[in-house]
Amino acid sequence: MNLILMGLPGAGKGTQAEKIVEKYEIPHISTGDMFRSAIKEGTELGKKAKSYMDDGALVPDEVTIGIVKERLSKPDCEKGFLLDGFPRTVAQAEALESLLEDLNTKLNYVLHVNVPEEKLVERLTGRRICPECGATYHVEFNPPKEEGICDHDGAKLIQREDDQPETVKNRLNVNSEQMKPLLDFYDDKGYLVEVNGDQDIDVVFQQIDDKIGGLA
Ligand code: AMP
Repeated sequence: MNLILMGLPGAGKGTQAEKIVEKYEIPHISTGDMFRSAIKEGTELGKKAKSYMDDGALVPDEVTIGIVKERLSKPDCEKGFLLDGFPRTVAQAEALESLLEDLNTKLNYVLHVNVPEEKLVERLTGRRICPECGATYHVEFNPPKEEGICDHDGAKLIQREDDQPETVKNRLNVNSEQMKPLLDFYDDKGYLVEVNGDQDIDVVFQQIDDKIGGLA
């Protein structure tokens, strides 16, 4: 079960990734998480990645492809994997194709969790987080018991800098421009599966599960 999960910020990709890896017991390979933990551990890789991430830029392809190659060669990927946040460029997608060929395997599906842009703006700008415990809320879809206050520790909720309306629109545009050529690449190869992400979490997962269940 070799899968890629794609989706714009706020599409619910993280939530679906958790559900997929829990049910099918395949490793969740998120390049963003790998870079963040390398930074925390102060490794060479972390040092290389940090300056790009701080600028909101992509880490160079050769670095990113290198870590994915290393990770996919580990034995726990033999029964499958879920890639999240990779590939981000067509060069990465092409490198992945040849990497999988070397490993004698290939992709099964590229799942694109698709949510209309105006809904994403609504989801992201309504998000509030607790600065103390990290709990997340949504003013409309998942409000705290008392407005603006964390249910767990009573701290005052805040809005992340990059969840402000203007920043959100810009983030979505940049991400969508980045994703378009990849969706075309995988559509041409016949791997692309469009998943309607504008539904309840469990309904979205059911759609994914119906598609990938046959691979297990
Ligand atoms: P994410 O958690 O997926 O949003 O990734 C956070 C940051 O890590 C991105 O803004 C990039 O700087 C870097 N990053 C993650 N995945 C990739 C990738 N496939 N190619 C290049 N940079 C990446």
